[in-house]
Amino acid sequence: MPAEASTQELIARRNRLLGPAYRLFYEQPVHVVRGEDVWLYDAAGNRYLDAYNNVACVGHCHPHVIEAIARQAAVLNTHTRYLHETILDYAERLLATFPVDLGQVMFTCTGSEANDLALRVARTCTGGTGVVVTRTAYHGVTGALADLSPSLGLPEPTAPHVRLVSAPHSADDDTGKIFASHVRAAFEDMARSGIRPAALLVDTIFSSDGVFADPPGFLRPAVDAARAAGALFIADEVQPGFGRCGEGMWGFARHGVVPDMVTMGKPMGNGHPIAAMAARPDLLKEFGARSRYFNTFGGNPVSAAAGMAVLDVIERQRLVENARRTGTYLRERLTALRARHELVAEVRGAGLFIGVELRRGASPAAGETTKLVNAMRRRHVLISAAGPGANVLKIRPPLTFGMEHGDLLVEALDQALQENSIN
Ligand code: PMP
Repeated sequence: MPAEASTQELIARRNRLLGPAYRLFYEQPVHVVRGEDVWLYDAAGNRYLDAYNNVACVGHCHPHVIEAIARQAAVLNTHTRYLHETILDYAERLLATFPVDLGQVMFTCTGSEANDLALRVARTCTGGTGVVVTRTAYHGVTGALADLSPSLGLPEPTAPHVRLVSAPHSADDDTGKIFASHVRAAFEDMARSGIRPAALLVDTIFSSDGVFADPPGFLRPAVDAARAAGALFIADEVQPGFGRCGEGMWGFARHGVVPDMVTMGKPMGNGHPIAAMAARPDLLKEFGARSRYFNTFGGNPVSAAAGMAVLDVIERQRLVENARRTGTYLRERLTALRARHELVAEVRGAGLFIGVELRRGASPAAGETTKLVNAMRRRHVLISAAGPGANVLKIRPPLTFGMEHGDLLVEALDQALQENSIN
């Protein structure tokens, strides 16, 4: 059967069986059958450079991770109501990557569950309900998090306990001060409505807001403002975490802040569903005194083995360093495209978390961005777009991405930008 016919058949089957809520990437969806390191392969044997997959952080199908999962799955898989060392060994290893104040960790299966749990802890410990998030944030799929994920399109009016603030969208010296003033005003507004604060919840790379990383430290005044209002600071590290930003393991560290809670997921098991929330032990003491928590699959021995293997690879292959080095190189090469293509307005990010903003004069070039993402896909380079104006190319490859892969990406982007339809 020709590849196109089988793609159409798969799409029809998907629609029939899974319903209409799911979305596919690209005008011509990619039918992937195999992955290896930074490469994905389609059913016809074509190779695609994966520059978007932050889940396969140590590369698709890394043999060390596969072996760890298979070994543990062959011996035992059960849950946290039994004693088992693996989860404790992993908890020790993971917590060692955090500041000492974040001394305990609870395991879940998804980033959404981790954020949901952090929210419950924040509400229990503060007695408040109010949460401040950024205007185009995404924090997860549960009902509670849908209220805090305006990128999904919030109902009007926004839930009474939620306040939205603009993401810090410039790299100026006073960015931190301005962001803090928005956060302060949001908590003051909440107080005027009689709503007590629970948390400031932000993705520390502001991914769905359009990728904002600079200047390092800009988060600090906002965290101070949230704490002064009586709220806790939850750092959502689901996207920036595990070394992607190229300076240590966690995005918050670039800002010189220590969160009260940190949530993580996506890259944690390189595709195996494992996520977690690290927290100050005094918060979990209070939460534990009032609530119980059991997550059937969260923290099972196979997940812990996967998580441990990912940490092994990040260390052994020096992937944080690679993220910094390759990320710097890639941002430099992308920035050089500005001289050749007017559409390329700004290149930003940290490590291998990169946003390329496209504008026509002062206007967000949303249509051109979509065209470009699809033109890149036709050239077998997979990226996507983000931001409130849908005009920021989002580049987020596996951390094993090398300079040669960066070159392929930049050359494909240069050619795609030259296409008549885009320039
Ligand atoms: N937080 C952020 C910043 C995310 O990007 C995501 C997933 N896109 C989540 C939370 C939710 O994670 P999950 O899909 O694993 O529930």
